[in-house]
Amino acid sequence: EIDEQTPDKLMQRRANLLGPSLSVSYKKKLKMVSGKGVHLYDHAGRAFVDGVNNITHIGHCHPHLVEAISRQAGILNTNTRYLSELVLDYAERITSKMPDQLSVAYFVNSGTEANELALRIARQATGQKDTIVLDWAYHGNSQGTVDVSPYKFKRKGGFPQPDFTHIAEFPDPFRGPYRYGDNDAGAKYAEDVKRRIEEIKSKTGNGAAAFIAESISGVGGQVAYPEGYFKAVYEAVRAEGGVCIADEVQCGFGRVGEHFWAYELQDVVPDIVVMGKPIGNGHPLAAVVTTKELADKFNTGMEYFNSFGGNPVSMAVGMAVMDVIENEGLQAHAKELGNYILGRWHEIKDKYDLVGDVRGHGLFLGMELVEDEQLTPATEKAGAIVNAMRERSILLSTDGPLDNVLKFKPPMVFSRENADFMCDQLDEVISTFS
Ligand code: PMP
Repeated sequence: EIDEQTPDKLMQRRANLLGPSLSVSYKKKLKMVSGKGVHLYDHAGRAFVDGVNNITHIGHCHPHLVEAISRQAGILNTNTRYLSELVLDYAERITSKMPDQLSVAYFVNSGTEANELALRIARQATGQKDTIVLDWAYHGNSQGTVDVSPYKFKRKGGFPQPDFTHIAEFPDPFRGPYRYGDNDAGAKYAEDVKRRIEEIKSKTGNGAAAFIAESISGVGGQVAYPEGYFKAVYEAVRAEGGVCIADEVQCGFGRVGEHFWAYELQDVVPDIVVMGKPIGNGHPLAAVVTTKELADKFNTGMEYFNSFGGNPVSMAVGMAVMDVIENEGLQAHAKELGNYILGRWHEIKDKYDLVGDVRGHGLFLGMELVEDEQLTPATEKAGAIVNAMRERSILLSTDGPLDNVLKFKPPMVFSRENADFMCDQLDEVISTFS
């Protein structure tokens, strides 16, 4: 017997037991009870195609991962003050995916913690605190990371911009001042970072501790930056002694298809790379990878200890995720399927004025909805479309500062059939709002 009141009852219990600043997806709430591959199943046994799971990279409950985590949990889990090959093998595995100079790994438990550590390393190494961030960036939920997250502190319930945080113009080639077709857009947006560096210099006499940015923006609305942007920014930041941090929490691990890391789209090598979400496929695992030089500067004599970071079970999980990415060719799949979906989305864009832009790389795509040629954001319609898609058993979300971008970021095992189903349904749903 299925109780259709289950979600309401759980919402009532949450109201008493959990903090009210937590949120739950969808107008009509969902209680998921199991997952397999691209599918999630609710309490009534209904199957949903997961089109936007920020975390589940290799698919829900992948058997290889389930086996690896169970096996290691039955052998040993302990903190990392004992020797183990597992942490070393995994550090080798991750760093082998990066340029030679990015050779030292730290393992932590969330993207927040990883960004915290990245900022600490940069600030320790430079002796500076001032940090340049992109407008609308999000880097985590701790005080230190919210301080560099305009996505949080500038919005409702936020707080004044900290004096050590400097916000650079968001390099959005659809909505920003320099748009598609402007071959110098990357360099022009980078000029604003140079202005922020000058601002910091006039205040402190020195350059920034760090420039931190997602390599392709998820929270900003699935925005890929214009060519040459990071190149110009990194050069300017480094010229004044600053450290360049790439937040790959959303976009790393082959998701963008053409490359394993999204920073490669911009043809740069960061000084620190931060990874999270997909790295553990839902298990709390995150990492910071940096250069030997920065790691040595961070080694002040104060120990860095992390109770769970790098524990044997987490390392087994990380290994299993990498096995599946490689064995199932998920990066190449992301590239091919992403291009196919973008093609279908372009056809949808051609049919409906509501669709202002379709963009992204691999299985990291966005569709921006606008009311008119002035690009008035179709925020309500975007929300309504996500809810209508849910009724048709496809899970999507909205993102971006104006909440008018449909976000598509599915488990990487999303199939061509899943893609056609999603595109057919999206076409029909959008037609009802146009
Ligand atoms: N960086 C980015 C770009 C993110 O999207 C997130 C999570 N939404 C984080 C950092 C923080 O990661 P976590 O929630 O694992 O702390």
